[in-house]
Order: sequence, then structure tokens, then C-alpha cells
Amino acid sequence: MKNNLIFIVFDSCRFDTFAAAKTPNISRLGETKRCFSYATWTVPSHHVYMLGASPHSSPKGVFASEVYKKDFVNWSHRLNIPDISFKGFVPRLSLPAFLKDQGYITNALVSMPVLNQTTALNVHFDRYQLMKSHNDFSAIVDQLIFDPEKPSFYLLNVGETHYPYILPGESGDDLPRISGVHGIFKHMDDFIFDGKDGSKEVKVEDEFFHMDKMLILKEKQRSNIEYLDTLFEKLYEVVPRNTHIIVTSDHGECFGEDGYFGHGPIIHEKVFEIPFVEGRIK
Ligand SMILES: [Zn+2]
Repeated sequence: MKNNLIFIVFDSCRFDTFAAAKTPNISRLGETKRCFSYATWTVPSHHVYMLGASPHSSPKGVFASEVYKKDFVNWSHRLNIPDISFKGFVPRLSLPAFLKDQGYITNALVSMPVLNQTTALNVHFDRYQLMKSHNDFSAIVDQLIFDPEKPSFYLLNVGETHYPYILPGESGDDLPRISGVHGIFKHMDDFIFDGKDGSKEVKVEDEFFHMDKMLILKEKQRSNIEYLDTLFEKLYEVVPRNTHIIVTSDHGECFGEDGYFGHGPIIHEKVFEIPFVEGRIK
């Protein structure tokens, strides 16, 4: 029997905040690995994942093509389908297309508007839905349906770990706001600017880099991961046993390191470093 697959992306979740969080439920899947994303921003990172590529370990002394080959072979044990290789994904290079060919029902439930259903990511999905709220993983879990006759694939993009790191029902009024950035981020989107001509500039002020504010936000991301972990109890009640679950991130986040906040147009190791956990419920 083919395994269901749930690919969960905690948007903007850093490796070290995840590692510092208590995640007893997610840990039931397997150990947390330190990996790297292929991109620093939501859109390209999700596209890479939907090619079938997974976060990588940045191995030295090997050819990239060999790393890809090994990476795609992993889908065999994840899905319980023998002899999967990179060749099986050619020429479309699409995980949902591959899974559809294997009889899967393909679903995407996304929290970030930048991944909405009219974008290029929505290819080969039977169901693709932008959630009403950017930060409600519980509402996503409520939307999961499994067909007893056919395996299911779900891409879940989760926003509680994204700036401004608020949970459902929280106003965020007690959290620091980053000058100039907040107007942009209120759209929960790193690329839609709120100036009428689309060109509003981020005003960088001295307080932008106040490390005490940054550390409060980093700590909030950590505690939100612990909140998400509690929702995995509910997730495990909903998903069938033969479900392979991946928990990872699309990119990390800078919290003041070397003068950076956030992710996207930033080259910094902390923006590539992400957690990777996978397995079946034990
Ligand atoms: Zn993202």
C-alpha cells in the first residue's frame, strides 16, 4: 500500500529556534536534522520542493548531480513505492505530477498569499487552497481529508512561524514591530508592497537593529513552534497510520545577525539553515 504524504513547511522557521523548542510530538516522527534550503524566499523554495527536491545537507566533495540522485531515491521509502529515481520525475520535474501518476489525490493548503492559487505553484494539484488566515495551522488540520481507496498528498504551508509571529487570537501588540517593515509584512507577503505605486521603500532606522527587540521576536518564533507542536496531537488523530510526514521550513530568518532582519534578499547562513524531520507516527 502506498503511503500518504504530508509535506509541512513552517514558513521562515530557523533551525536553531526549532532545535531550542520543545517538540515532543514532532519528535515522534524522527530526529531533527540541520539542513539547508535552496532559496532564501518563500516562492522559489516551495517551487524547489515541488520539483521533488528536499532540503540538503551541503555535502562536500561530491557532484551536485549525485546528491540529486540520492535525494530522489528517498521517495521510495517515503511513499512505499519501489524503484523511484530522478528519471521518474523527468521531464516535468513535478512532485504533484509524479504523485498523480501514481494514483495520489494531490492537495495544497497554503497560508502565505504569495503562494495563492493563481500562482505558478498551482500545477498538478487536484485541490489548492489559500487559507483565510495566514496563521492557523489548526484550521489547516481541520481541512485534511483522506480517501480510503486512494493515497493522498498534502503540501501544507504554515504561517505561525512567519513575521510577526502571532498565533490565532493574538494581536501582537505586545511584540516589537520593526520600523518600516511592518507595513509591508502586514500583507504576510515579502513582495507585495503597500505603496500605491508599488514602490514604498523600507525606512531603515537605528532601532531596526536593536538586538533586544530581535531576541524577543526570535523567542516568540520558538514559543510558536511549541504551540504548533501541540497541534500535532490533533494531526496524528486525523492522519492514517501509513502516512509519511515531513516537517521542515522554506528558509530561515535573520534576527539581527550582521545587520539583517528577515529573509528574501539576504545572503546569510541563518537564512538557509532549516530543520528537517521526517517519518511515520511511532
Ligand atoms: Zn517563506
